[in-house]
Amino acid sequence: MAVVRGLITFILTLTLLVFFVPESHAEPVVAVEDGGPVTSLPSNLSVPGALRPLLEEVLRRSPTFRQQVQKLRHAPHVRMAIRYGDVSTWHVLRAESVVSRYEWGALQVDTTLYTARDVIEVIAHELEHVCEQIDGLDVRQLSQRRHSGVYTVGQHFETQRAIVIGRQVAREALGVTVGAVVPPRPSA
Ligand SMILES: [Zn+2]
Repeated sequence: MAVVRGLITFILTLTLLVFFVPESHAEPVVAVEDGGPVTSLPSNLSVPGALRPLLEEVLRRSPTFRQQVQKLRHAPHVRMAIRYGDVSTWHVLRAESVVSRYEWGALQVDTTLYTARDVIEVIAHELEHVCEQIDGLDVRQLSQRRHSGVYTVGQHFETQRAIVIGRQVAREALGVTVGAVVPPRPSA
């Protein structure tokens, strides 16, 4: 019987991105590990089927996203499951992640997406929260310290690190078509 030892939730609030992003003409780079290219998602990351080809393309283009995915791949005690919430209504949040910590060190992260736009940034942002947990970041403690880059938003935690990395991956993945990805209709 699994015992949940602690729950941490992260949210991604609706933000306005105002920086200018120049058009990228860079050739996609393919990382190589164990003799093969790292173009597939690890088995401990489950994503909606419609998003898989998109994320694999991001993996080819973004070195930062590849580092995140490799960190998750090498942490088999961690599982991240991403699903769509109801995207038909407006939400204050763009995404929400709930981290469940189990007795033997296993970590389950359940991420709900509330947006069909900016999905690359949002997923990279939430994935960075998972990387923070893999790195052993104590967000609860850090949020009580000034200038730690960790703060609370209501009952949730937010980190500067996830904000920066999410935007960076979105920049590196610029040009990946997201128009083809249509989230499923919410079930009645
Ligand atoms: Zn966040």
